[in-house]
Amino acid sequence: MFVYADNAATTAMSRAAADAMLPAMGELYGNPSSLHQKGREANYALMGAREAVAKCLHAEPREIYFTGCGTEADNWAITEAARLGALAGKKHIISDAIEHHAVLHTLKKLEKQGFSVTYLPVHENGLVRLEELEAALRPDTCLVTVMFANNEIGTLQPIREIGALCRERGVLFHTDAVQAVGHVPVDVEADNIDMLSLSGHKFHAPKGVGALYCKKSIRLENFIEGGAQERGKRGGTEAIPAILAMAAALQESCAHMEENMAHISAMRDKLIAGLSRIPNARCNGDPDHRAPGIVSFCFEGIEGESLLLRLDLAGICASSGSACTSGSLDPSHVLLALGLPHEIAHGSLRLSLSEYNTMEEVDYILQQVPEVVRTLRQMSPVWLHMLEKMEDPYKE
Ligand SMILES: *Cc1c(COP(=O)(O)O)cnc(C)c1O
Repeated sequence: MFVYADNAATTAMSRAAADAMLPAMGELYGNPSSLHQKGREANYALMGAREAVAKCLHAEPREIYFTGCGTEADNWAITEAARLGALAGKKHIISDAIEHHAVLHTLKKLEKQGFSVTYLPVHENGLVRLEELEAALRPDTCLVTVMFANNEIGTLQPIREIGALCRERGVLFHTDAVQAVGHVPVDVEADNIDMLSLSGHKFHAPKGVGALYCKKSIRLENFIEGGAQERGKRGGTEAIPAILAMAAALQESCAHMEENMAHISAMRDKLIAGLSRIPNARCNGDPDHRAPGIVSFCFEGIEGESLLLRLDLAGICASSGSACTSGSLDPSHVLLALGLPHEIAHGSLRLSLSEYNTMEEVDYILQQVPEVVRTLRQMSPVWLHMLEKMEDPYKE
C-alpha cells in the first residue's frame, strides 16, 4: 500500500486546480497589463481569482496581494509592519517560540536592525496564553505575529482573541495562516486580523504561489519595485496559471470545508487513539485546539529518522517534523518549545492528512507504525538502557 501522509509539507494538486491552470497554459497567455484583447482576457481571469480568494477570507479583492509563496508573504508582512512601527518610534515585536522559520528568521533579521522581539512561550500544549501576551504588550509594541495553525503539532492559536486584544491596543496583528487557510474557517473580519499569509501548495494548488492579505487601512509599502502589478506594490508579471489554480483550489476547499474537516478529523482521531496505545508514546499538541489533519507523536527510545526510513520502505510518506533535513541533528524548535527533552524530541513522527486520505490508509498506518517502533526499539541502545529502569512494556 502507498500512503501519502505528509500534507503539511505539501499537497497533491487538485483536479480543480489543474483544470483552472490548463487554459492559462494554453490560450490564456496574455499579459494582464496589456491593453489588447489577450491582455484583457488575462486581466479578467486575474480579477476573478482575486475576488475568489478575497471571498474565501471575507476580505476585499483590493486587500489581496499575490506573492510567490507563503514565505514571501510572511517576509513582506513582518518587515512592512516593522517599518511602519519604526516610523512611529515603535520597535518592539511580539511573536512566539513555535513559528515557522519564514517568520522566525525574518524576526532575527529585524533584531539585528535594532528591533526587540519578545518570543512568548507556548507551554506543554503548544498554545500561547492571552494573559502572557497582554503582559508582554508595551507602549512601543508595533506588531504581534502569531501563527494560526502550527505546521508540526497542529495547535490552533486563539487568533480571534489575540486579534481583539491587538485591536484594542492599536497594535498590528499578523498571522501566518499557511496551515489554516483552506483547512479551517478563516475570516479576517471576525478574527480581527490585519495581515495574513497563505500558500497555495498547502491546499492542493501548485507550488510557487501564495498571497498576503493586508487590511486596506494599512499603508503597505512596495515589496518588489517594478511595474504596476499588485497595485504597484509587488512588481513582476503575474503568475497567471498558478494564481488561477490557487483560486480554484481555495474555492473548492472552502466549499467543502465542513465535510472535509469532518472526514479528516475522524481519521486524525483514529490515528491518535491508535498510536497512543504504543508504549512510551506521547501525542504532541493540544487535544481540543488542533488542526484537522496534523498528528504529532514522540516515541521514546528511537530516532525519528530511522522511523521515517522504515515507514518509507512500507510505502508511508511521513515526516519527523524536525529540522534534521538540513543535516543537523538538532531536534525541532517546536518540540523543544513544548519543554520536551532532546532525547524524546528526537523520536518524533508527524503524520499530516488531507481529504484525499482514507480510513483504509489510516488502518494501514496503524498496522505499520507500532511494529516499526517495536523493531527499532529492539535495536536501540537508548531503549535497552531505559529497560534497566522500567518494566519492559513489550513483555508478554
Ligand atoms: C509551508 C509553510 C510556510 C511556507 O510556505 P511556502 O509557500 O512553502 O513558502 C510558512 N508557514 C507555515 C506555517 C508553513 O506550513
